[in-house]
Amino acid sequence: MRLNPPRAVLDIARQLRDRGYDTWAVGGAVRDALLGLPHADWDLATNARPEEVRGVFKRTVPIGMEHGTVGVLARDGVLYEVTTFRRDVETDGRHAVVEFADTVDEDLGRRDFTINALAWHPLTEELRDPFGGLVDLRDAVLRTVGEPADRFAEDYLRVLRALRFAGHFVLTIDPHTWAALVAAVPQLPTLSAERVREELFKILGKTPHASASLKLYAAAGALRHWYAELQEIVGLEAAPVAAPAGVWARTLTAIDTLPVTRPIVRLAALLHAVGMPAARTSDLRGGWRYPGHEAIAAGKAEVLLRRLKCSNADIERVTRLIALQNDLFPPDAPPAVVRRWLAHVTPAYLPDLFRLRAALARAHGEHGRDLAERCRTARRIGRGRPPLTLQDLAVNGGDLKALGLAPGPVFGEVLRALHERVLDDPNLNERERLLRIVREELLPA
Ligand code: ATP
Ligand code: MG
Repeated sequence: MRLNPPRAVLDIARQLRDRGYDTWAVGGAVRDALLGLPHADWDLATNARPEEVRGVFKRTVPIGMEHGTVGVLARDGVLYEVTTFRRDVETDGRHAVVEFADTVDEDLGRRDFTINALAWHPLTEELRDPFGGLVDLRDAVLRTVGEPADRFAEDYLRVLRALRFAGHFVLTIDPHTWAALVAAVPQLPTLSAERVREELFKILGKTPHASASLKLYAAAGALRHWYAELQEIVGLEAAPVAAPAGVWARTLTAIDTLPVTRPIVRLAALLHAVGMPAARTSDLRGGWRYPGHEAIAAGKAEVLLRRLKCSNADIERVTRLIALQNDLFPPDAPPAVVRRWLAHVTPAYLPDLFRLRAALARAHGEHGRDLAERCRTARRIGRGRPPLTLQDLAVNGGDLKALGLAPGPVFGEVLRALHERVLDDPNLNERERLLRIVREELLPA
């Protein structure tokens, strides 16, 4: 079978063969090549032991010697992972414990799904497929290698991996695998937060139609454990007149309209509505309103993201986007209102905030044309570098002191009053003009 690996894959396999070792391309790259899809990381598996691999190549990196993984830096500048064949010996449901093995088939036997358990020989072009992965790829079926219940119990992350792969490649999960998967879902809390989080970020960062995997999370009951706040909005009905589709359905649509290159905005879209169940009140027409749900959502999202041990920077960004999701100046706002709004959201949030707003508008079936117009307005006014913070004022505390003001709370009051004035009229932001305003209008007589 002809696949087109990078040249370096052939070079590495050849160099190992010349020392008497047998080397195969394995995992995602083989699967994706068979599907005709590009795959960045070609992983290799070999019967050479890690120290032996290090002996064959000039430039290597000991990535995970205890797992048998050596990084080989190839001439193309790419680091290829070369891992010694392994087999599982025992497991605790959190990590498979492995030992080195002698054959590629043993190595394939410890892999999670048949479509991931294919090996291809770069020199002979032979395909090893002991578990029927090629047929499953052709029929678009996701199936575990071996007995599903056992394979999930070895490593419960495979539950989430199954949902991700099935969504990403649009596969039907084989009924036997699905039944075992659903039965294994209650064990998800035993996983580490980091592994669960990485799975979510792979969905958001790799799958354009991320909704497919997330729908499967919901269908399998997998949201209940790490994502209880999302479970709450599944099935929550939005106001029937204003918004026919459910909140969860709109959430998924919003994510799909955002690009994979913006995982943080996609995460904000995923969590944007988690404040709605708590905020829901009935309106006078018998529909529902969600006053203040944005702030509630920001708080709940923070709890969820801390549970997943996300970075502080990511938490800050996502929760602010959620809190600001409906915070926008009106279409005909005068420049002073736009400047105040910019001072409030800060220009650094502007692009992502409009991305989120546009995605939510599209999910509501709106075209968002006036949104694009407002985005242009905000950008234009932002480009003029208006004085958005107290630091941008043409006077500082030293100037006030020189006017005879005693340092203290009154300093802040005066600077804030000046800031209001320059937000109204940025032309006032000159030292002499501001000092005159202080002398003539703000100083206590
Ligand atoms: P992608 O990187 O595109 O998400 P992949 O198939 O390359 O897909 P990786 O997580 O990079 O997935 O893993 C590489 C290979 O290692 C998989 O194809 C699979 O054969 C094996 N593998 C990874 N994680 C597990 C696991 N938890 N249990 C069993 N095998 C696994
Ligand atoms: Mg991979």
